[in-house]
Amino acid sequence: MSPKPRVAVVGGGVAGLSAAYALREHAEITLYEREPHVGGHAHTVEVEDQGRTLGIDTAFVVFNRPAYPNLSAFFDELGVEDERLLSGFHFFDRDTGVLFGSDEMELPAEEVAARYPEEFRTVFHEVRRFHEEGRRDFLRKRTDIPLGEYLDRGGYSEAFRYGYFILLCSAVWSVPAELIWEIPASTVLAFFMAHDEGGLGGRRVDWRTVRGGSVSYVRRAVAAIDPKLRLSEPVTAVHEAADGVTVTTPSGSERFDHAIVATHADQTRALLTNPTPRQRELLAPLRYHASQVVLHTDASVMSAERSRWEAWNYGKVTVDGQVRTYVAYYMNKLHNFDSRTDYFVTLDYPLPLREECVIRSFRYEHPVIDMAMRGAQRTIYEVNEGTRVKLCGSYFHSKQQFWDQIGSHEAAFSSGREAAAQLLRELGHSGA
Ligand SMILES: Cc1cc2nc3c(=O)[nH]c(=O)nc-3n(C[C@H](O)[C@H](O)[C@H](O)COP(=O)(O)OP(=O)(O)OC[C@H]3O[C@@H](n4cnc5c(N)ncnc54)[C@H](O)[C@@H]3O)c2cc1C
Repeated sequence: MSPKPRVAVVGGGVAGLSAAYALREHAEITLYEREPHVGGHAHTVEVEDQGRTLGIDTAFVVFNRPAYPNLSAFFDELGVEDERLLSGFHFFDRDTGVLFGSDEMELPAEEVAARYPEEFRTVFHEVRRFHEEGRRDFLRKRTDIPLGEYLDRGGYSEAFRYGYFILLCSAVWSVPAELIWEIPASTVLAFFMAHDEGGLGGRRVDWRTVRGGSVSYVRRAVAAIDPKLRLSEPVTAVHEAADGVTVTTPSGSERFDHAIVATHADQTRALLTNPTPRQRELLAPLRYHASQVVLHTDASVMSAERSRWEAWNYGKVTVDGQVRTYVAYYMNKLHNFDSRTDYFVTLDYPLPLREECVIRSFRYEHPVIDMAMRGAQRTIYEVNEGTRVKLCGSYFHSKQQFWDQIGSHEAAFSSGREAAAQLLRELGHSGA
């Protein structure tokens, strides 16, 4: 029997783990990870709380079975338990005191007309219009334009854009307001059509979280893969030659038969020393944005009406004369645990937090989903044909879910699996 090929997997996020998992019986795997832990955006902070350990996720946290079929099957295979999320969304304007949420979105139109102020009535009607017209426009292929342009053409109000839409989109794609208008309208509509047209946090989606935090699945995956683990070892170069791949880190270079590079597109661009023309062309236009994410206990980020707190909370506030928006996840509800302490994760919170309340802060980078990224999806998987270095990550779409499923855990997981399947096919494994 010929020895198993040696494969380097660069990046231990879900894309790298997925590829390594699919290759585990057919290759000798070395997993390089820059950080001291594996998981990437599957990043749980374990907090001591009343004599027990609570796993609180700080980036990837929710999934649902219909829109995450490959990831869900992986979790089932690993025996990962999940928690049903019973919550919704809550919006509050800290300047005007206006607040509404999933409850109000489900009211009959007559009741809204009779009881609610102008600002909310506008939002309520435009939300309905957006989902109705959007569905039709999507099917007629009129939505392959940036979201901002689509909303301009439809004459949508500022109240709808800044008092609702921006907030939902920052929660879904983890990007700030100014980048939201660049997201293809088709991608936004595809997300809402596949989920709850009332918006993220509406109650018609069976959202789930990993019990104990996503670290629970990461630990099981690593145990099943059993790779040579090279933690805290940033790869600085990946060089492909006709007969192998050289991976370089600050501790030296190592030769492999193949490599899977599962870092972000901009990082991959910097790592590949001799990219193929197709790799260069794919990676060149892809952009990333960094968000400041803080796990903390400072309740000043929430609205004063505690009874309205939901899993997803969207705040709007004027700071130094500028309207700023932010997302605050209420982790007790998201992870479905009881505690005397309230835990929050905020994304790009525009005001100072009380220092003594801060548990951990992170800077997470996320792809900017714009027309260039969507356009790249048409042929993105061809980049891995016939190369010793295969690429994957959340900048690839999930093949089963079409081009608009980009940026999520399902997309990243699926791309890792596809990269491994491509390699196995080229190595002559049937059924890959
Ligand atoms: C705040 C936030 C919340 C999110 N919430 C959700 C959610 O609820 N649901 C959802 O589906 N998606 C969510 N996402 C999207 C998330 O990014 C994807 O789901 C997915 O985790 C990305 O996986 P990845 O493997 O492509 O990248 P990553 O998880 O970022 O993994 C890349 C890995 O490569 C490593 N690396 C980088 N450079 C090197 C190097 N030179 N050498 C070695 N290793 C290197 C990194 O350290 C990292 O571990 C969220 C993202 C953010 C930022």
